[in-house]
Amino acid sequence: MKNVVLLGSTGSIGTSTIKVAEDLPDRIRLVGLAAGNNLELLLEQTRKHKPAAVSIADPEKAKVARDTLGFSTEVFSGAEGLIKLATLPAADIVLIAIVGTAGLQPALAAIRAGKDIAIASKEILVMAGEIVMNEARKHGVRVLAVDSEHSAIFQCLDDKPGSSVRNLWLTASGGPFRNNPKEDFANITVERALKHPSWVMGRKITIDSATLFNKGLEMIEARWLFDVEMARVKVVVHPQSIVHSMVEFVDGSIIAQISTPDMCLPIQYALTYPERVASDRVQTNFAKLGTLTFEEPDIERFPSINLARRAGEEGGTLPAVLNAANEIAVEAFVNRKVSFLQITEIVRQTMERHKNVSQPTLEQILEADLWARSEALSWRQD
Ligand code: NDP
Repeated sequence: MKNVVLLGSTGSIGTSTIKVAEDLPDRIRLVGLAAGNNLELLLEQTRKHKPAAVSIADPEKAKVARDTLGFSTEVFSGAEGLIKLATLPAADIVLIAIVGTAGLQPALAAIRAGKDIAIASKEILVMAGEIVMNEARKHGVRVLAVDSEHSAIFQCLDDKPGSSVRNLWLTASGGPFRNNPKEDFANITVERALKHPSWVMGRKITIDSATLFNKGLEMIEARWLFDVEMARVKVVVHPQSIVHSMVEFVDGSIIAQISTPDMCLPIQYALTYPERVASDRVQTNFAKLGTLTFEEPDIERFPSINLARRAGEEGGTLPAVLNAANEIAVEAFVNRKVSFLQITEIVRQTMERHKNVSQPTLEQILEADLWARSEALSWRQD
């Protein structure tokens, strides 16, 4: 039995994690749940799973939760609430699926409390990959991947060291605009960008999949998670999203992880690792799938790939700046303040203006994050 704390229980990954827990009641016990705003769903999940503690961002909503739940469940709120949950004595593993940067401090707190962590939130390793992985090594805890691409690489690597890897191959669906000509990019609306061809996900990651910033963030995440430098992290477009990623070993052999797309699979693997537990949820029929195709990403139409490669190669505070500027730009796009093309432009210009700090402390990373947010917010087209 694994005691699991789930941060972001009301989101896309969070609700899939709850499904996995419901599939495996003898294996997974939810001991802590945290949400941002959705009190109603958090209460419903709490009544069903009876965790020892819950947390919600807004203290007023926490009061309502306390009144509703009585003494059976401890209720916390805000950033401290996330830390309380991440360090809950009963927890074996903390799954972090909060959109944005709010997951970073709880991730570090969980590691320092000796908990394994399962990471969906890309921002954690993009911002502070070196610090997080060093802390995990120091405290002897596992950092498990929830993202389907990183879970795939983890499964293919099967504990082989970085020295046996020639390249890591991240697959990308290419997003909804894979075949659109560059001239069309100026006319992309929020509605069109929110229609992902193969995955149903939260709003932010869906827009990131349309710009391919999602793949850029994943490249940096992979670099730290698997301790392989950026030059060996490659991207190939694979529109069917059946090959979730691959490892090319030094002898030329390539191992891929393959299945029909369903986030429950990587979530279950992270929560039951190192075991494989029976589940009927995912079935793959090759004859029905027919053809699997691969193509080079078009960096002319999707410059986000090169911006992320640069940020990952230069390291320091630059990846945190890329991440924060992108978050602001996506928000502005969704609120119809900037165009689709301007998302990448805002990130590029913010990165150009940043004075990179190498080997940064956590404080310097958080400072760079705040700086990038205010730079990106004040962006005006020349
Ligand atoms: P969603 O937007 O669907 O969900 C985000 C979750 O975070 C919600 O539960 C939300 O709560 C919660 N949340 C937001 N802010 C806070 C806060 N301050 N305190 C506590 N909880 C908070 O996002 P996704 O599930 O799609 O993505 C989550 C993370 O996982 C992202 O980093 C994404 O990149 C990554 N990821 C997602 C994948 C997917 O398939 N969706 C695949 C791989 C990675 P509420 O709804 O109550 O406001």
